[in-house]
Amino acid sequence: MNANQCSFCGRSRNEVQMLISGQDGYICENCIEQAHAIVKENLQGKKGTAAVHLDELKKPKEIKAFLDEYVIGQDQAKKQLSIAVYNHYKRLLHAQEENRDVEIEKSNIIMIGETGTGKTLLAKTIARELNVPFCIVDATILTEAGYVGEDVESILSRLLMVADYDVEKAEKGIVFIDEIDKIARKSDNPSITRDVSGEGVQQGLLKLLEGSIVNVPPQGGRKHPDQKYIQVNTQNILFIAGGAFDGIKEIIERRLNKQAIGFSAEKINKTDEDEDTLSQINATDLRSFGLIPELLGRFPIITYLDKLTKETMVRIMKEPKNSIVNQFVELFKMDGIRLEFTEGAVARIVDETMEKGLGARGLRGTTEKVLEDYMFDIGNQKEIILTDQDVISKN
Ligand code: ADP
Repeated sequence: MNANQCSFCGRSRNEVQMLISGQDGYICENCIEQAHAIVKENLQGKKGTAAVHLDELKKPKEIKAFLDEYVIGQDQAKKQLSIAVYNHYKRLLHAQEENRDVEIEKSNIIMIGETGTGKTLLAKTIARELNVPFCIVDATILTEAGYVGEDVESILSRLLMVADYDVEKAEKGIVFIDEIDKIARKSDNPSITRDVSGEGVQQGLLKLLEGSIVNVPPQGGRKHPDQKYIQVNTQNILFIAGGAFDGIKEIIERRLNKQAIGFSAEKINKTDEDEDTLSQINATDLRSFGLIPELLGRFPIITYLDKLTKETMVRIMKEPKNSIVNQFVELFKMDGIRLEFTEGAVARIVDETMEKGLGARGLRGTTEKVLEDYMFDIGNQKEIILTDQDVISKN
């Protein structure tokens, strides 16, 4: 073999930067790169889906088990989300099949629940489990094209950014649209005057949701008019929307009570139970709330999150893999200090946080405050046992 040339392309040693020797030949850096590209393309298949076979997809039960490690309670939402995600990726497989008669539609999801009940956490955890790009956008920053604010396309700019501008990867990602309730139409009647902040944005979102090729400005916004657009196909992007939908319970109750006219009073009173009411939510209620029917049509799955009770909050403190208790114990362990939270301390931290009305989101702040002095004086003690008294004196 000629030690002075690439056995693949024939380039001589002085035409290439590197020649790597094998048993009976040499290869240059150009041929290595080309071969790598061929291997990558073949391994990923034509469409490059993350999972190639159905049996490689995680089943709904497995997805839920993963969610259970990070999110406490919210069983109904977890179940529905797991099924929706499984079906979504099954749909991607189906789309690759030739000769298919049935087109399976996308299962975008709306999650309804008060702030701090775990909506974002659920969406984020799902994306982590699936190892797909994930981004969160706040619906309130979006405006109809031509108005001050961000165009709906900026959502895809973000997704591209987290996917490192790998378009194929972004096209299989998950987008969480937070505060979807804030772009509701202000009144039930379609107004004569245009509603820039609400209905216009909902209309704008339709084209992303239904699955089309969208021209996306790489940096987002219209501030860089000379930038080239990137084309993104949204057909396989899963959209999960979340919102508190203040006042939705009354809307559901009104609908239920109306149906219950003529039945016993007992049936009507049943709707007093919060969770019971929420579990009966359907698209009609969201329509009354001010989401347009076209938008609702693209969110076939509606699920709800329960209010966090004291018991759930205590579990949130302790149980998730990266629970607040675990995080702080780990932090102190790095300094060789054993930190222990007594049951009393945890209960007290939960009480204080609930008083502030911050939901689970406030737990970390309260704990941080309680541990502030210990963290400042770190190194003074080898063991800290936190009691409810420690919490009371700090808040
Ligand atoms: P939202 O419903 O407003 O999207 P988040 O998912 O952002 O709420 O929750 C805020 C924080 O509260 C999370 O980062 C998490 O630490 C905690 N949290 C809320 N709900 C749960 C839950 N069900 N299980 C575990 N942690 C939770």
